[in-house]
Amino acid sequence: MKIGFIGLGNMGAPMAANLAKAGHDVTGFDTAGVSVEGVTKAETAIDAVRGAEAVITMLPNGDILRAVADQIIPRMEKGAVFIDCSTVDVDSARDVADQAEQAGLLAVDAPVSGGIGGAAAGTLTFMAGGSDAAFAKAAPLFGIMGQKAVHCGAAGAGQAAKICNNMILGVTMIATCEAFALADKLGLDRQKMFDVVSTSSGYSWSMNAYCPAPGVGPQSPADNGYKPGFAAELMLKDLRLSQQAAESADADTPMGQIATALYEQFVEAEDGKGMDFSAMLPRFEKRGSS
Ligand code: NAD
Repeated sequence: MKIGFIGLGNMGAPMAANLAKAGHDVTGFDTAGVSVEGVTKAETAIDAVRGAEAVITMLPNGDILRAVADQIIPRMEKGAVFIDCSTVDVDSARDVADQAEQAGLLAVDAPVSGGIGGAAAGTLTFMAGGSDAAFAKAAPLFGIMGQKAVHCGAAGAGQAAKICNNMILGVTMIATCEAFALADKLGLDRQKMFDVVSTSSGYSWSMNAYCPAPGVGPQSPADNGYKPGFAAELMLKDLRLSQQAAESADADTPMGQIATALYEQFVEAEDGKGMDFSAMLPRFEKRGSS
């Protein structure tokens, strides 16, 4: 398949490389002039989408996605599929899908989970929103870049699933970290805390698979000086998207609201920027009850 790929950053570059490795004819564009092995470098976004049957975007946010979509949608071949894998707000995803469909294209919002490691290994999970025809056309490409793709519903459903998942993740990571900090102050051994909680009703992915306490549980960023992994500022971005969505859908999400405020403080006023999102644990350790 002839594929245009726009946004060759930490995630996009390995995803595009995997498509090329699988034998697809991939042309890529990034404003930073990035080159990727096996991918033809285009000078503009329009050059990258010329004649493509599928165009994939992997961009930082909804405003940039909208700007790129305005440029490329009028230049894409009728019947081609526009697959946006960025994490963006639900409204941008829906508007871009609408614009694409009006131009005779198929459209899928397909944010991912699995991080940079999953992008390199081709083991991402895709959460997709769009028509059955659009999902069917994109599915073989998801099969190369990832190991699972869930068709969540109509346009925007992929982004909705992503931000709901990450809101739960942000909240459970904070709960796990504050519980470890409390356990420390109560004199409870961290290994014992892990042994109990990971097999009791307090268990979660944050505790069992990504334990924020160094030397306890499986290998995680805590064992590597809290080097990301999944950076605190990316968690903040996703939590802010959840709050934007909650406001526009009139949903009550108090835990999401508190998690957003805590990550905002951690990243913008404390030392969280550039740290893994599980570095909330040393943050809580330093603090008292007031
Ligand atoms: P990144 O900043 O490394 O990459 C974004 C790339 O887009 C950059 O190379 C930038 O130069 C390029 N870009 C910006 N504006 C552009 C434009 N107008 N035209 C073409 N290229 C442009 O970010 P990333 O980590 O690769 O993340 C990409 C998306 O994936 C984000 O939406 C992020 O939230 C999401 N995501 C990231 C992770 C992760 O672990 N990094 C995990 C899941 C989802």
